[in-house]
Amino acid sequence: MSPDDYERLYAESHDRPAFSNGDEGYGWMAANCDRCIHDKPARQGNDGQGCPLVLLTLVGRTPAQFLDGPRDEQGRYGITNQYVCTDFRGEDDPDPNPRPIPTPPGQGELVPRELFEGHRMLTPLPEPAAIGGDVR
Ligand code: SF4
Repeated sequence: MSPDDYERLYAESHDRPAFSNGDEGYGWMAANCDRCIHDKPARQGNDGQGCPLVLLTLVGRTPAQFLDGPRDEQGRYGITNQYVCTDFRGEDDPDPNPRPIPTPPGQGELVPRELFEGHRMLTPLPEPAAIGGDVR
């Protein structure tokens, strides 16, 4: 991932704010982006080469790479782990590229897995009435 991927990442993202206020956003970024290799250029003064996912949050989008972190029974979450960013890499990681788990030796594949790799976000199912289902 690089700043040049912004258009693609924008198209993948959701049209809703990632954070409900600045405290949440900057608190989460301090706990995650401030030690991630993708935003290291911004920390060194080169904002233009910073993480494009951070830029998406600043324009009111939720990146597809943000998965919900742990919630309690009431749905409450901590600011530092509101999301788990699937593109996070420690700034000292020798290989910042994602490393998919390889197919185990001897396991057959019915279809090529490359077509199904990538980021996905779960969305609520539509109400049965909306898809012509049984309405009681
Ligand atoms: S990849 Fe995720 S954790 Fe890393 S800087 Fe970007 S938004 Fe933050």
